Amino acid sequence: MKEYEKQEALRAIPPVNEILDHTEVKALIERSGRALITESIKLILDGYRKRMVASEQSGTIIEHKTRKEVTEYLVGKLTAMMEEQQEAGLKKVINATGVVLHTNLGRAPLPEKALQLIHEVSEGYCNLEYDLETGSRGSRHSHIEEVVTRVTGAESAIIVNNNASAVFLCLNTLADNREVIVSRGQQVEIGGSFRIPDIIAGSGAKMVEVGTTNKTRLADYAKAAGEDTSVLLKVHTSNFKLTGFVEEVSLKELAALGREKGLTVMEDLGSGCLYDLSRLGLQYEPMVQDSIKYGADIVTFSGDKLLGGPQAGIIAGRKDLIDKIKMNPLSRMVRCDKTTIAAMTAVLSLYTDPDRAVENIPVLRMMALKEDELAAGAVVLKNLIDAALEGRVETEIVDDTDEVGGGSLPGVELKGKAVALHPPEPGANEIQALLRKAKTPVICKINRDRILFNVRTLVREDYADVAEALAGILR
Ligand SMILES: *Cc1c(COP(=O)(O)O)cnc(C)c1O
Repeated sequence: MKEYEKQEALRAIPPVNEILDHTEVKALIERSGRALITESIKLILDGYRKRMVASEQSGTIIEHKTRKEVTEYLVGKLTAMMEEQQEAGLKKVINATGVVLHTNLGRAPLPEKALQLIHEVSEGYCNLEYDLETGSRGSRHSHIEEVVTRVTGAESAIIVNNNASAVFLCLNTLADNREVIVSRGQQVEIGGSFRIPDIIAGSGAKMVEVGTTNKTRLADYAKAAGEDTSVLLKVHTSNFKLTGFVEEVSLKELAALGREKGLTVMEDLGSGCLYDLSRLGLQYEPMVQDSIKYGADIVTFSGDKLLGGPQAGIIAGRKDLIDKIKMNPLSRMVRCDKTTIAAMTAVLSLYTDPDRAVENIPVLRMMALKEDELAAGAVVLKNLIDAALEGRVETEIVDDTDEVGGGSLPGVELKGKAVALHPPEPGANEIQALLRKAKTPVICKINRDRILFNVRTLVREDYADVAEALAGILR
């Protein structure tokens, strides 16, 4: 580029003030504030100048632009930048993957009753830590304690931020500086950062491993239990399955050993199942009620896995131990807010009647859906999509495999139904990416070059949105 051309190109770049006076930019200022817009313009101008220098050095020709053209170009960039920022942040998405407890999509959708209670207690004030009987200070744990004990048979309970913090808090309270015995077959990792050995070490307890990967016997625990032992820990291997030559100690046996030796028996159940899944034709998943019945002193479980509630961890068990856990200063750091406690009490209270639980808790309802119900849903969705695309794109109803997800029930395949779309231009991957950018993003799978919309995880209100998103992309 000749020197005078370069000078001219630089002169064509408008100053910040001039851009701020542009009508479209004024509207942006109205929406996002002058400070943010000014900063963003500076960033964009900086980038523009750098690109100019770079293209000059690499010898590429910069297309000559007038000041007006450059201004329009920069304003366009600014508008796009602001739109992107508006789109960022937490928002609703449509889960068409057929994975019921999709951790990346927020795990469990909440029941209507929970949403109502969240609304009621958050809109104004509530009796979070206020005893309406006496008019004095109450405990935030009392609300869930009452319903957990009713549903699980445990003596007492406390709610914390999630199950990882529940396990940590229990070990920190009950085994600080002392030994925790755990089977080598239960050294699980959940979701990348929760590893039993690390949690035990982090809590201040000393881990004593017993048995082997595939076999651990009661005698292994008995032999390892000594002066310094405080807890026998059983961990539910929620997200993997060991088959073949396998043996583990039942909770009943472990509880008996604990009583004999005066040790605390703790079980990390993970999923926190309160409903007998064999009633839905699925495999039995260890239930909290059974853990209490078989003699666990302390049970910990997640609120947002099979239980179908908000993110939380529940610790249920012996009152003396729970009281100790409540007194631990760390419990303050992992305590839940009123919205979580509201949602949790609402969800838990649905379990007093198991039939009502399946009907009203979305996670259970989705897992319980039968093939004919899914097929009927698929027909409705297919018709809506065909109408929106005016029949120009081939669609069909196919069988597909849904999953429970969330590290629960590994290997369990739910027979699902999906509407498969044979993608026209621009192809499956591109359409999938555009669906993620729809007004309400649609998350879906690709299988054998078809785009699948699995109906199990959709609600009826989603159907029209899926069809509309597709129409927007393929019109
Ligand atoms: C999921 C899981 C956890 C972690 O629970 P979060 O609620 O996700 O913190 C811990 N232990 C087991 C066995 C689990 O399955």
